[in-house]
Amino acid sequence: MKKLRSVIDVDSFFHGLCNADQCALLLDYDGTLAPFQVNPEGAIPYPGVREAINRILAQGRTRLVIVTGRTLADLIPLLALDRAVEIWGEHGGERAHPEGNRERATLSEVTLKALERATLDAQELQALGARCERKASGIAIHWRNLPIKTTRIIRTRALALWGKYATINGLKLHDFDGGIELRARGHSKADAVKTILSEMKDDAIVACLGDDQTDEDAFAALQGKGLSVLVRSTLRPTRADLWLTPPEELLQFLQRWEQARDRW
Ligand SMILES: [Mg+2]
Repeated sequence: MKKLRSVIDVDSFFHGLCNADQCALLLDYDGTLAPFQVNPEGAIPYPGVREAINRILAQGRTRLVIVTGRTLADLIPLLALDRAVEIWGEHGGERAHPEGNRERATLSEVTLKALERATLDAQELQALGARCERKASGIAIHWRNLPIKTTRIIRTRALALWGKYATINGLKLHDFDGGIELRARGHSKADAVKTILSEMKDDAIVACLGDDQTDEDAFAALQGKGLSVLVRSTLRPTRADLWLTPPEELLQFLQRWEQARDRW
């Protein structure tokens, strides 16, 4: 557990967590709770992570939220938790409440048509070796594990093919580790964090854990209002306050969270 900012006091954070009326733990999935896999359907949590989350959920003293780019349908079987959990899928395009109800953002006809055209365009990127992931509110192209030269060609073509939709049709391009996504505007982890914060008391203790560029949006939205934590085997430029190497330091962090809420 390494501090990236001198003003951050981890012991004080967990002390505050012991006494907080409200708290929220926001967790990214791929690369944070689960190691990357060539086959994304095989990305299950690191050993011990599922159990740690189950224990925090069983306490009933934390608003635990999974905030992911994946769809709910994709993620829920991989998580396989003991009880229902709040999940923001597709960067906030869909939301599952722990009580069971679900919400989905509605897109305009213009945006939907643009996404259909972008999906057709993506065939050219797939022919270059990329994997295409179509979601309700966006489309992602993945190039993880392809040669660097190929990934550059795919990214350049993706920008050329999709750039026009990003300017006129309510869509925006987002880079992430291993790909690029064309996504409906207003659907980002920053939007998710802002909404979650608006639903909590001003003095709630909040932490957000993530690994990717998309999590940096969440870290920015949380700045001054909570603890942002980069979970990654190697450090990179980040807005995060703290850096954890998975899985050991991630498990330690979750254990400290559980212990703090035990004392609440
Ligand atoms: Mg991630």
